[in-house]
Amino acid sequence: MKTEIFKVDEGSLEILSRAAELIKNGELVAIPTETVYGLGANALDKDACLSIFSAKGRPSDNPLIVHVAKPEDAEKISFTCPLYYKLAEKFMPGPLTIILPKREIVPKEATGGLDTVAIRCPSHLVARRLIELSGLPIAAPSANSSGKPSPTTAKHVLDDMDGKIPMILDGGECEVGVESTVISITDNSITLLRPGKVTIEELKNVCENTQIAGAVKEELKEGETPLSPGMKYKHYAPRAELYLIDDKYIDFVAFTKQKQKTEKCAVMCYDEEISQLENKNLLPVGKKEDIKMQTHNLFILLRKADDLGVDTVYAHLPADEGESLAIYNRMIRACAHRVLGGRNGKG
Ligand code: AMP
Ligand code: MG
Repeated sequence: MKTEIFKVDEGSLEILSRAAELIKNGELVAIPTETVYGLGANALDKDACLSIFSAKGRPSDNPLIVHVAKPEDAEKISFTCPLYYKLAEKFMPGPLTIILPKREIVPKEATGGLDTVAIRCPSHLVARRLIELSGLPIAAPSANSSGKPSPTTAKHVLDDMDGKIPMILDGGECEVGVESTVISITDNSITLLRPGKVTIEELKNVCENTQIAGAVKEELKEGETPLSPGMKYKHYAPRAELYLIDDKYIDFVAFTKQKQKTEKCAVMCYDEEISQLENKNLLPVGKKEDIKMQTHNLFILLRKADDLGVDTVYAHLPADEGESLAIYNRMIRACAHRVLGGRNGKG
């Protein structure tokens, strides 16, 4: 199959109408969103959902997120509750996914066999336009091959999906850079299943009774069933071995400078450290305090590390709170919990 790629904005009606036709015909279209690129298909068409799994090589029990144009559109596919609308008022459209009991109309193929469905209302205008034009809820997991870092540019999508899907909509770099915050809710409680731009602190402002699921910060214990199937899969991994350095216990610059002499390695350093390191395979993540930029750059740099063909990658162990929790959660999976020094130290 030939994969066509088109530069678009929300005004590109002709291309977006073609994309909507493809979705209505059960085909796959890669879509820019504010978080990462999604691999979209008609969420109500079980065969279209199955095509997503085969294009990604995704395990069939890992459910898809269903995207709607307006928070109220969740009514057609799920059973909402007052807390859903309280959260929607604050965070939708935007990078928050809420898990609700599903209606019959949603095929089990979309939900990995679960009785719940993950709902998200993206703020990206291209994504919204496409959902409106198709008149359908669009199931869209990240548009990467399963296990690889999520795509935040159309080029990333092409690298993974060339020949597998008919169309990629190129809306430029994704603003946020990591996937949405995923939560499950009851009438009066929230459980955070995957951290993202919407933080636990922000959720607590809407509902005091908010917890973090254990697997967000730690490895699943042997035999433990995760609250969210995605928690159990290896994720975001670059081909090189990634090590995280707890810089409270190890001098990051001294340590990585030494490694640069003896290993074919890349270093994900802060901008402030560039001048102290050898100018070889450096992947600056942003300024030390600039968590937004570090989040935006995360998957771009993990993919760059692969392009460099290095054997190892060294990075700072991110803080596990606030907006940095999203980076921590991705990095700890990407490194298969290889942390050097102090906190969580295994090295
Ligand atoms: P992706 O869209 O590839 O970023 O992955 C979607 C994430 O949302 C996965 O980690 C899933 O496990 C999670 N998810 C989607 N639907 C559900 C659901 N019904 N229950 C729990 N987790 C879900
Ligand atoms: Mg994904």
